[in-house]
Amino acid sequence: MQADKQTEVLELLEAMIAIPSVNPAYEEGAEGEMELSRFIEQRCRAAGLSVYRQPVLPNRDNLIIELKTGHPQRTLLFEAHMDTVSLGGMPNPLQPRREGNRLYGRGACDTKGALAAMLHTMEYFSLHREELQADLLMCASVDEEHAYRGLLAFMDLDLPIQGAVVGEPTNLDIVIAHKGCVRFEVETLGKAAHSSVPWEGRNAITDMMKVMEYLERSKGDLERKVHPLCGAPTLSVGTIHGGSQINIVPDQCVIKVDRRLIPGERPDIVLNEIRKELAAFLHGQNVQFAIHELLLDEALDTPPESEVVRSALAAAGRLGTNTALCGASYGSDASKLQQRKGIPSIVFGPGSIQQAHTDEEWVPMDEVELAAEFYKELARQFGKSPRR
Ligand SMILES: [Zn+2]
Repeated sequence: MQADKQTEVLELLEAMIAIPSVNPAYEEGAEGEMELSRFIEQRCRAAGLSVYRQPVLPNRDNLIIELKTGHPQRTLLFEAHMDTVSLGGMPNPLQPRREGNRLYGRGACDTKGALAAMLHTMEYFSLHREELQADLLMCASVDEEHAYRGLLAFMDLDLPIQGAVVGEPTNLDIVIAHKGCVRFEVETLGKAAHSSVPWEGRNAITDMMKVMEYLERSKGDLERKVHPLCGAPTLSVGTIHGGSQINIVPDQCVIKVDRRLIPGERPDIVLNEIRKELAAFLHGQNVQFAIHELLLDEALDTPPESEVVRSALAAAGRLGTNTALCGASYGSDASKLQQRKGIPSIVFGPGSIQQAHTDEEWVPMDEVELAAEFYKELARQFGKSPRR
């Protein structure tokens, strides 16, 4: 019986790998998630699950799957994205291949492994509703790999949800904290002049060096702010563009900066602080600068005592997976659910982030099977223990 079930989730994953769902932002002409969503929809209907579409972008819909168990006051959400990055240089990316404990294919680890395990969980409980003390909801979302517009649209529905599990590769670790991100541009504005009379202009590149000096100095402060699960915040200047010609004093220079946040830091506040500190640092030097916001993404900071975490710990205890609460340095949909909607959320899934987005994408098959068992056990625990 157990063996059959395990084969079922792996076969489900293989079927999902064989259906391309490349995010159109990554490959010209890619069709997106529609075919995969049709497959999932059909599976749900066959299993007697209620499923509906939420249009997000042209021909790209979230799938929302509901399982009512007669406990409407508690709802647990499973969320995983359907899109993948481009097929890249991966050999036979759409042909799932087993090798030892590894299952190769585009999306195997990011994040069709988790998606298959979650769908399998929903199918299982469709036949075993009496095992649950909470309603289940699953969102198979679009566009996580680009601008997470699927999740944002889902959050606009404002459904009552008391806990969420986001499926991304964590090697079966329970992730309750991860970093967030602020991306911004700094632009310095000078005055153009012929390079033979530089005193008639103002050099925007030289001014940018002062901005860079501030950024480099601020790294010292960042290193001292260590979060126990996520480490220290970081800052990295990714690009610099300035000047147009060797014989013209440049009137403009722009850098792009990526600042990673730790739990407890808020993206909008961090960006404002940078604005103020930079102005103070450059005070009296007559440097003209502007900061343009590019992306704000919250850090995940789910309280360890929340019900979804306690249910996850109980599940890990039963299955023998890692019972330490973990942090991650990458971002996920979970932080948006937690920070913007107040839904305690964890990230949990099979496979390693090391294999995500690479030409060598694979997932350990035993972890996919265990993830399915974990999601089931977590769902059984949710709503059982004293509520908070
Ligand atoms: Zn992912």
